[in-house]
Amino acid sequence: MSTSSSLDNPIDQYSHHDGFEISFVEPPKELPLKCSICLELLTDPCILDCDCGSNFCKMCIETVKKKRYPCPLCQQQFTTIFPNKQLQRTLNGLTIHCPHKADGCSWMDELGKLKKHLNRMPSSETRLEGCGHTDVLCQYCKTFISRKDIPTHETETCPKKPHTCQYCGHSSVLDDIRENHWLVCPQFPVPCPYECGERPQRQGLKIHVKKKCLLIPVQCNFQYAGCKVEISRRDMANHLKDNVVDHMTLMSIKHREEVSSLKETNKLVQKECADLKGENKRLQSQLTGVNGATQNLTSIMVKLEMQLKHKASAIVPVQPPSSEVPPVRFVVTDAKHLRQQEKEWNSKPFFSKSGYSMVLNVHLCGNKDGYGSHLSVYTYIVKGKYDHLLIWPFFGSVTITLEDQELGNHYTYSLLYTHEQTNGEGGAREQTNGEEGARRYHDTLTSGWGWSKFIELKHLNPNFLKDDCLVFQIDNISFSYDL
Ligand SMILES: [Zn+2]
Ligand SMILES: [Zn+2]
Ligand SMILES: [Zn+2]
Ligand SMILES: [Zn+2]
Ligand SMILES: [Zn+2]
Ligand SMILES: [Zn+2]
Ligand SMILES: [Zn+2]
Repeated sequence: MSTSSSLDNPIDQYSHHDGFEISFVEPPKELPLKCSICLELLTDPCILDCDCGSNFCKMCIETVKKKRYPCPLCQQQFTTIFPNKQLQRTLNGLTIHCPHKADGCSWMDELGKLKKHLNRMPSSETRLEGCGHTDVLCQYCKTFISRKDIPTHETETCPKKPHTCQYCGHSSVLDDIRENHWLVCPQFPVPCPYECGERPQRQGLKIHVKKKCLLIPVQCNFQYAGCKVEISRRDMANHLKDNVVDHMTLMSIKHREEVSSLKETNKLVQKECADLKGENKRLQSQLTGVNGATQNLTSIMVKLEMQLKHKASAIVPVQPPSSEVPPVRFVVTDAKHLRQQEKEWNSKPFFSKSGYSMVLNVHLCGNKDGYGSHLSVYTYIVKGKYDHLLIWPFFGSVTITLEDQELGNHYTYSLLYTHEQTNGEGGAREQTNGEEGARRYHDTLTSGWGWSKFIELKHLNPNFLKDDCLVFQIDNISFSYDL
């Protein structure tokens, strides 16, 4: 094994532990430069206490020692490693090119100054100092960029660099401005959709299109008169200039049409006016009628209120002839026939003050054995001419007096009519419901139901019968309306 070949044919390129190639400006002759273990340029050269005196990188030979191997060259066991400081100094003093010479770095200096020149692990203050071809971390996007490119990258192209929108001044980072903000920035220039070549601000695009754009199609100003031309705003000026006569003709036709249409409208409006006047008159006369009716109603109400207040005789819907109003005298003239079984007497119908029509019936009655023991005095409602105006069922009372024709010691009693009775309940032979049932009366004057009083004959004073006559008086009739 020999290292003489490297000494005999000196080369000027050596691999460095740190991963780049070192080339010497003047390749040194007869100087051990290579480590026999790693075959790279000696880094921190050391010799051993063996006989061959070879140089190895400190790192390389320490690995060998740890494994207790002998010297890789002379195979002699060694115990100590000595730093070859003299060789180190010599090596550090050799002039080399920058490993990035091929990339364009012209740096040339002693090997010992290479680390500082490359400045691969810079502090924040010195990050821009040293070889421009060393990769340095960008402070914004955290990727490695050649040191020489860092200033441009960090101020212009880094996607994460702080950036202010040049149109509106909004601040963010470059890629956000480009990818998001510019899609909505109100002052970002956008191309006109009508391809007129203008790039108005986004917020001004509508106004541009509406008022300024020369290529937007517009309708002729005389469209309302019938010109159907629709061309770009730029060409419209010429259209207007070239078609003055045509436009004036269209205008005059349109004008004539409008005048006649206005005349029509005017006619219609006048007719509607007349109709409305008529309607107004009609409504006014109706109003007068209503006012009159209201006045009448008011006066009626005042009257009714007064009547109620003073509890005046009654609110009388109908005033029957006074001759028919009680007190009514009813004389049974041939009373000697009283004991004949079939004989009975009916008064003429008479009215209450409000018009209920009734009849007084007198006949003899009693049980089978004692027939003729009682005098039945019986009142009942008959059909009257005011029935449709009256309250049904009604309530009230009537007073009947059998006169003592000698001493004035009269026999007087009252019959009370309740709703139940006048509704046809109690005493009615047949039952019906509602209004019809309520208006129960008799069509004939000779039979029917009503309200009776039975007077025992033995209680009757002989004075009640005089000249074969019984005299009844009916009064104090007070029914619903009469109260
Ligand atoms: Zn050795
Ligand atoms: Zn080595
Ligand atoms: Zn360099
Ligand atoms: Zn960056
Ligand atoms: Zn903006
Ligand atoms: Zn435009
Ligand atoms: Zn036109």
